[in-house]
Amino acid sequence: MNLPVHVPHLFPVCENQLRIGGQSLTELSKRIGGTPFYAYDSGMIGRRVAELRQAMPADIHLHYAIKANPMPALVGLMAGLVDGFDLASAGELRVALETAMPPARISFTGPGKGDDELRAAANAGIVVNLESEQEMQRLARIAAASGLRTKVLLRINPDFELKSSGMKMGGGPKPFGVDAERVPAMLTRLRELPLEFLGFHIFSGSQSLKAEAIKEAQRSTLDLARRLARHAPTPIRLLNLGGGFGIPYFPGDQRLDLSAIGEHLASLMPAARRDFPEAEFVIELGRYLVGEAGVYVSRVLDRKVSRGQVFLITDGGLHQHLAASGNFGQVLRKNYPLLVGNRVACDAVCNATVVGRLCTPLDVLGDNMPVGHAQIGDLIVVLQSGAYGLTASPTAFLGHPAPAEVLV
Ligand SMILES: *Cc1c(COP(=O)(O)O)cnc(C)c1O
Repeated sequence: MNLPVHVPHLFPVCENQLRIGGQSLTELSKRIGGTPFYAYDSGMIGRRVAELRQAMPADIHLHYAIKANPMPALVGLMAGLVDGFDLASAGELRVALETAMPPARISFTGPGKGDDELRAAANAGIVVNLESEQEMQRLARIAAASGLRTKVLLRINPDFELKSSGMKMGGGPKPFGVDAERVPAMLTRLRELPLEFLGFHIFSGSQSLKAEAIKEAQRSTLDLARRLARHAPTPIRLLNLGGGFGIPYFPGDQRLDLSAIGEHLASLMPAARRDFPEAEFVIELGRYLVGEAGVYVSRVLDRKVSRGQVFLITDGGLHQHLAASGNFGQVLRKNYPLLVGNRVACDAVCNATVVGRLCTPLDVLGDNMPVGHAQIGDLIVVLQSGAYGLTASPTAFLGHPAPAEVLV
């Protein structure tokens, strides 16, 4: 098998086929009616949540960031597994409200919320994470017009960042949240408005595989919350500590040391509970919960050799999986883990470039990488595709039909 070190054992292999949710890829593809498709393994999602709960202090609440994967069936599954949702659009709000998650446990983040979105959030009774003073004024007007007193968190742009993270979302100049130094003035203004202050949302970054960096960010987050809480009109009732837990995508990536983070957080909690006696503490994760549970499956339509290089041309592509093509935030393109899912082990491993069906050189799923000796009709599986897969892809590009998505 030619899988990167971190990937074996994610899914069982039986009769040389990868099995997702207890079904072989060939069975799944028949059931779905063909390729390409995304499949998400609900058992694996459940195990990830259980591992997290095991590792973290018992009173840390776990929220799911719907942005990572908004498939309605998956969000419905998550409603029974986590303590709350974080969402970032009216579309995600509609998906969330169709689940069993109580609205009071849902929060709405995003730097450009429209009036219609603020109104929908206020009417639904969800918590709004305020990203600016102007947004606060707009929400106050909208809520007051409906006689509502909307619950709010202030989203802080911290004065530190999550080091060695894939996407930095705090520290320095950022469009997200309110600069920490402006928060005291904003809290003064908030007192006069018909909004119910709950606490702070401090999200410093995403996709970190370094326990040390996450530990440091969590410590700094609690310290910042302590400093800002002095200016708060009421005791803090909700403190969202952010997330940033990453998953291994590329050769050499090491799995995050969850127990190190959990133990460190447990050591911070006695002081945190003392300083915020009324607070509920939340961490908010997307990809860590669902990223490894998903695969993207396409079929080899053609195999050709061009000037010595083998190309496998599939019926998938970047229009359905932008991230695997390297065009979603990667600086240097690296290959996602990929294998021939209906012929996992094979004698002759050869290098091939796996491309999609789009007429652009950007449409590469695997660049000159070792894959089994795939033939026309074989199923190419891109692993680590459960988060920021279909949802982060330009599906209209070239006008092919959308792929199926199944939760199994
Ligand atoms: C994107 C985002 C998340 C989820 O990030 P992951 O890397 O998927 O865990 C959580 N919270 C906020 C505010 C986000 O913008």
